Amino acid sequence: MASLRSVKGMNDLFGVEASSLGAVEAIARQLAKRWGAEEVRTPILEKLDLFVRSVGEATDVVGKEMYTFEDKDGSSLCLRPEATASVARMVVQHGILRDNPRFRAFYAGPMFRRERPQKGRYRQFHQVGVEFFGEPDPSADVEVIALAAAILDALGLDDVVVELGSVGCPECRPSYRKKLVEFLRREAVQLCDLCNQRTESNPLRSLDCKSASCQVVFQDAPLPLDSLCETCEVHQMGVEKGLDQLGLDYRVNKRLVRGLDYYRRTVFECTTQKLGAQSAVIAGGRYDGLLGSVGGDEGVAAVGFAAGTERLQLLAREAGAEAAHSPADIAIVTDRNQRVEEALVLMQGLRSAGLVVVADLSGRGRKAKTKWLGRIAHRHSVFLEADGSARLRVEGMETQAVSPEAAAILGALPVD
Ligand SMILES: [Zn+2]
Ligand SMILES: [Zn+2]
Repeated sequence: MASLRSVKGMNDLFGVEASSLGAVEAIARQLAKRWGAEEVRTPILEKLDLFVRSVGEATDVVGKEMYTFEDKDGSSLCLRPEATASVARMVVQHGILRDNPRFRAFYAGPMFRRERPQKGRYRQFHQVGVEFFGEPDPSADVEVIALAAAILDALGLDDVVVELGSVGCPECRPSYRKKLVEFLRREAVQLCDLCNQRTESNPLRSLDCKSASCQVVFQDAPLPLDSLCETCEVHQMGVEKGLDQLGLDYRVNKRLVRGLDYYRRTVFECTTQKLGAQSAVIAGGRYDGLLGSVGGDEGVAAVGFAAGTERLQLLAREAGAEAAHSPADIAIVTDRNQRVEEALVLMQGLRSAGLVVVADLSGRGRKAKTKWLGRIAHRHSVFLEADGSARLRVEGMETQAVSPEAAAILGALPVD
């Protein structure tokens, strides 16, 4: 039979890949908690309509990259391409804001986008992110950006630049959009096919075009930050002032836009040079009104960010801050399958005392077991000999604090 392999772009994670991804999530989770965010988990499978209505059909994420399929009852389902829309749906569905009108959520989990596979881009990837609901003030934007910066700092990144912009609101965006569309039409012959396609469907996204010749044309394009209404301008100034107060470095980027439709006012990206060219590692912004598009109150403010966990993991590794694959505290080996019950009792006691214990209690001989010990990471080993003696072998010079309970158990064993 032919061997089975994982689906293209979907990775098996094990060993240090799995543990360091978990470590990155743990750092983000712990910091988000300090900012008052609660962890939430939403389903991986959602109704297609959720993302069409919130993220927008004209976006690449929904228009081109989603895994969608028809369920047996004829409804259209999809694998979630991002989590913000799901968290917003959850908040509305359960009336969470009735009890807590300023609800802060943290999430971590897999997302799915059917992109062209390339290095560092996977079709199943992971994200961590936060969403703060019910906080219209610029201070919430500042807190969100400060949290993003704290996560990158904890991962050992020292060259992060926060790019800050604004995409306006329903008051000022339509007139800006009109100006931009007029500009794009005027310059149509000079623009790439993608920009021409986007002129009518998603004109703001054009400013993000990777083509160098398009970027030359856009030197003269009207920019979102120059077209803000007064409310948006005041908000933007509030964010800048707050970041100044915290001493957080940022750079105002008049061209900054985001690929998703739901953003309003503040948009930001935390960028680094560590992966070669300057690239964004955390991106987010304000999306007041998103709750309206998933059936909730349109007046609810919201701001948040998302980050690709694999990218954070890669950067943490570059920065040398990666959590090592942690070894077991004790490895227990029996002489063939002698004294197995005794070993089980010893393991139970050590685990209750807080130690990580692995064992080979099989019928294999000493040679095979010694070989096994050489392959698995462990701090100390215990040999339960057939003659009834036990020897604790302290590997290397490394010492570690063990709980009094564990010390009592280990102290009863003769040291080799
Ligand atoms: Zn505005
Ligand atoms: Zn272009």
